Amino acid sequence: MKVAFTSDNIAGASDSVFKAMMEAAQGDAMPYGNDDGTAQVTRMLSELFECEVDAFLVSTGTAANVLSISALTPPWGSVLCHSESHLLNDECTAPEFYTNGARFVGISGADAKMDPDQLKKLVSQKIGDVHSCQPSVVSLSQVTEVGSVYSLDEIRAISDVAKTAGLPVHMDGARFANALLALGCTPAEMTWKAGVDIVSFGATKNGVMAAEAIVVFKQSLENKGISSEQVAKELGYRRKRGGHLHSKMRLLSSQMIAYLTDDLWRTNATHANAMMALLQEGLKAVPGVKINTPAQANMLFCTLPLPMIDHLQAEGFGFYGGRWEEGVIRLVTSFRTPKEGVEAFIKSARQFATK
Ligand SMILES: *Cc1c(COP(=O)(O)O)cnc(C)c1O
Repeated sequence: MKVAFTSDNIAGASDSVFKAMMEAAQGDAMPYGNDDGTAQVTRMLSELFECEVDAFLVSTGTAANVLSISALTPPWGSVLCHSESHLLNDECTAPEFYTNGARFVGISGADAKMDPDQLKKLVSQKIGDVHSCQPSVVSLSQVTEVGSVYSLDEIRAISDVAKTAGLPVHMDGARFANALLALGCTPAEMTWKAGVDIVSFGATKNGVMAAEAIVVFKQSLENKGISSEQVAKELGYRRKRGGHLHSKMRLLSSQMIAYLTDDLWRTNATHANAMMALLQEGLKAVPGVKINTPAQANMLFCTLPLPMIDHLQAEGFGFYGGRWEEGVIRLVTSFRTPKEGVEAFIKSARQFATK
């Protein structure tokens, strides 16, 4: 059996999500988020995060990221994020576009996690100097772009630096559930309790069709002297201006409701992470395979001999890489990755290595 590890977004959507969309498509409902389902999403997210939140649904992760950040950054601001972050490398200047030209500054650090010491230097640089951009937001990705996961202490180390500088913290949670399960903590612990003020709460990669939520922790912002009311107001206008105020918002809301019902998010991410653990364990034992960054969630970067990559691709397995950086490939498991597919991949790699 062949399987693709290209990305977690190659999988479609969970049945219950699709069913919820079918149901939401019946009858009439008020447009532009003025429907009961959208109000329910906010209530469900408040419950999930154990605090009062504002929630804004959009249909891509890029929009969730750039809208979140634009509501907190003036055009002369700078946003501090990891140099390998999605914001810097995979959003095609949407960050600059949505913020009207704010500066995105890459911070280094092992395993795509920002080094708090480097962050400390940059957040306090040229404050109040009219000639320089002004640090405005710190943004971290959880899961990171190389498949590592910030521990709660590591999140706190970053958010403490931000707090001292008076800056809000954004979390790019495109793989929020996968990270959460890797840590085994609660959503509150991984976010506002660790100093995060706003999250791009990803759902698309973990089993919905197209829905992401910007989740604003109102009290956390207030504690930093930032008006949550103002942020919510701006997000409303910015989302519309950015073309993400869906008129049939109920179709997005229905997906998010299904995602949050009966812990679907947890079930899906548990499977994806378990498949990655199995895949990583198997690959570790294959001669010639090097694990670049140990996978903690559902994404792994590893290095294989080029002929082994050619063999696996010829066998019909799908994945990115091989020629970006010699032999480096990226493997991602999803809520629907079949166990037999993982086993077949390992078997094929092992057979090639030992033949
Ligand atoms: C996938 C992803 C996103 C969102 O991407 P879209 O393609 O815009 O939905 C954001 N951040 C990270 C780290 C991602 O992997």
